[in-house]
Amino acid sequence: MTDGNKINLAGLTLSGLTCLFEDLGEKPFRASQVMKWIHQRGVTDINLMSDISKVLRERLHEIGEIRLPDVRDEFFSTDGSRKWIVEVASGSRVEMVYIPEEGRGTLCISSQAGCSLDCTFCATGKQGFDSNLSVAEIIGQLWWANKKLGNYEQPGNHPVSNVVMMGMGEPLLNFDNVIDSVNIMMEDIAYGLSKRKVTISTSGVVPAINKMIGLTEASLAISLHAPNDGLRNQIMPINRKYPIAELLQSVKSYMASLSDNRVPLIEYTLIKGVNDHRQHARDLSELLASLPSKINLIPFNTFELSDYERPSNASVSNFREILRKAGHTVTVRTTRADDIGAACGQLVGDVSDQTSRSIRHQRRMSKVNEKVKLTGKLATAAESM
Ligand code: SAH
Ligand code: SF4
Repeated sequence: MTDGNKINLAGLTLSGLTCLFEDLGEKPFRASQVMKWIHQRGVTDINLMSDISKVLRERLHEIGEIRLPDVRDEFFSTDGSRKWIVEVASGSRVEMVYIPEEGRGTLCISSQAGCSLDCTFCATGKQGFDSNLSVAEIIGQLWWANKKLGNYEQPGNHPVSNVVMMGMGEPLLNFDNVIDSVNIMMEDIAYGLSKRKVTISTSGVVPAINKMIGLTEASLAISLHAPNDGLRNQIMPINRKYPIAELLQSVKSYMASLSDNRVPLIEYTLIKGVNDHRQHARDLSELLASLPSKINLIPFNTFELSDYERPSNASVSNFREILRKAGHTVTVRTTRADDIGAACGQLVGDVSDQTSRSIRHQRRMSKVNEKVKLTGKLATAAESM
């Protein structure tokens, strides 16, 4: 049984828990004890917290509980990846994916059910926005991954070394909950992940990037996807509000605020005939000349209701080479977990469409496609990739 009025201890940061115990007239170190039980040992029963007195446990029961989201389904990919469907308070379902690789395990998690930003190439965006996930629902995804992978029973068995907020939703539109969650992930007595290995991916909510300064040291990935405002306006509506120059300025300020030397990841989804021409690569190279960064090219992942296409491998290689020769560090994201619908942009969950966006999207897609394919054709005529 859960009681909505009780404080959810799983959603509190170390400072939040410390304040709670201070209010109870208890010593601050109680906060570390509770944090370790929940996040390092995977315990959700307050009675099992054996280093806390019975009297205090009873008091904790009265005011609080440990409430994590429910995992409703689980899929196994032939490549070793796993996907879990998590049900959140609104009744919607979000997805998270674990991707094991040589020497690391990456967990891709969601921050919202649906997304309001409506990027033309994104399956999540097409669903419209349903709700923000709470801290317990965000951190709960990492908790569940550890549970499912057997890490609480046998620590380090299938370690989750990296977390990327590249699942469903725009993390920076759920600002407070996302910042608290990444800070719990990096907290030594919780998950202890390195700040270099916890990444917030954003489509470019400029005021929120500026607001991150001083509140977290998480790494930053920017979904750029176009080298100029004209094209970006068409495929990412948020660009009309926060154009590229403002976005890159905020990224520079955030990177400069960090206590170590780090560069942002620039994500660029390659869509055939839309943003994958040689000239786009050259423009991108020039745009990023003054921003030390790593570029990650993501060949478009197809999904139902989208008439965009993935470029050929040769076209992806050409794009990469132009950037590489200009001195950029470039990687190409290999498609993982494709067989369980868990590649980037395929995370759709089961979100009630609040906006009839699917229909609007279809109408708008055909207009955008007409426009960009035309531009594309002109560019392709000049030089085919
Ligand atoms: N809202 C955030 C994080 C979630 S999307 C953001 O936009 O950054 C994670 C990444 O997948 C983003 O770079 C996004 O642009 C990309 N993506 C979305 N749909 C895709 C698709 N169909 N194929 C390839 N990448 C996609
Ligand atoms: Fe939202 Fe990111 Fe998808 Fe754009 S790419 S619609 S911001 S989840």
